[in-house]
Amino acid sequence: MKKILIVEDDKFYSRQMVDALSKHFPGLIVHTCESAKELFEYVEKNEYDLIIADLMLPGGEGEHIEKLVDAGEAVIVITGNSDFEYRRKIFNLDIVDYIIKSENERFEYLVNLLHRLERNRGKRVLVVEDSEIFQKFFGKMLSRQQLHVLEAANGVEALKIIDNEVVDLVISDYVMPKMDGLSLLIEIRKRASMLKMPFIAVSSYNDNGEVAKFLRHGANDFLKKPFGKEELVWRINNTLDLADTLRKEHEYAVKDRLTGLYNRYYLDEIAPRLLAVAERYGEQPLSLVILDVDHFKKINDTYGHLAGDKVLKSVADILRKKIRNSDTIVRFGGEEFLILMPSTDIKRAYVAAEKLKGAVKENKIELKEGESISVTISAGVAQFKKGMNLDDLIKCADEALYKAKSNGRNRVEMAKSCEEYRVAAMQ
Ligand code: GH3
Ligand code: MG
Ligand code: MG
Ligand code: MG
Repeated sequence: MKKILIVEDDKFYSRQMVDALSKHFPGLIVHTCESAKELFEYVEKNEYDLIIADLMLPGGEGEHIEKLVDAGEAVIVITGNSDFEYRRKIFNLDIVDYIIKSENERFEYLVNLLHRLERNRGKRVLVVEDSEIFQKFFGKMLSRQQLHVLEAANGVEALKIIDNEVVDLVISDYVMPKMDGLSLLIEIRKRASMLKMPFIAVSSYNDNGEVAKFLRHGANDFLKKPFGKEELVWRINNTLDLADTLRKEHEYAVKDRLTGLYNRYYLDEIAPRLLAVAERYGEQPLSLVILDVDHFKKINDTYGHLAGDKVLKSVADILRKKIRNSDTIVRFGGEEFLILMPSTDIKRAYVAAEKLKGAVKENKIELKEGESISVTISAGVAQFKKGMNLDDLIKCADEALYKAKSNGRNRVEMAKSCEEYRVAAMQ
């Protein structure tokens, strides 16, 4: 959001709103005016991302809002009336939302609303609906909330889109030709969780059992037709917000703060699937490398713990940059890193580890101005064998790491059980 217009004849209120918005959205251009006449002069000369307009203005008692909406402007209405029926009427003007003057002393609602619209801007919502009238209705409502709308007329079309494009939310009707909403939901849940692809079911079924069926199969929410526009908007907002929050929490939980790498929890999350693939398709090798910084304790003792942190961050950056996209790296312990390499046999993993070893050694880490150091790493490499679990695989690589340490450090060694590969790898 770059440029907005505030139309409000109460100067004090208008001033407060400008202050609040400037504080929360630095760089936002805010124009203000006070009457319906001025409003249309401003709109004539400028392009606004959003117009926040008082419902009662000198020279306008609501019809200016309708005019703006008809012209395709995104409008938030300011009203002093908090009567429920009245609010519903305002919402039916096809505005983005409304704010109630008395409730908005610090403009928290407005600020949150603007933040949400910003977040919505990049989001893609797939509307699955065989009725063209409803499809249009959803399209209009969602675009008002700054969401990008994708359309499908049934479950089959929807799956095609889901398999080929990014979709942040699915809103689906129940009864449709070819594939109905419930079958679609079941297919979607095979591909993505409630968190990754939220799903809101829509239906005019009056039987509560139908609602339960959807929720049971992983629908995030349910809308019963007929529903109000405001209800629709809030169900969408809440579903998207919740999914965003959970995603962020998840990201927080599986990432290491110092290095930004994934942590052990993440490893536990993804390893079973990778191991299962390797187990099922014997020809799809999977290798694991454990890397450990050599004499790291000395770094801490000599330069201090903060310098040690900096070294770890730098080593993590190098490793992250040098591995393949398909590899997963985690911070496994204090100064230990672990890399899972799918479709990689031990020979290739060994070569990869040697390269990483070289890159770390070459890397100069500036601790203070004019004072750089470099560190070395040792690594142990192992390849998955049928019947192993993650712990077995880690143990193998760890034994190899121990060998690398006792053989003088700044070395890569292979797991003993894989020694037959060693000669080939060295050639
Ligand atoms: P080796 O070559 O045998 O691996 O020796 P080392 O000194 O690297 O190994 P050791 O396991 O004896 O010591 C690891 C040190 O790493 C001890 C610990 O205080 C430090 N360490 C662990 N986590 C962190 C961290 O997050 N930041 C810093 N600065 N140090 C850490
Ligand atoms: Mg007024
Ligand atoms: Mg170490
Ligand atoms: Mg260690």
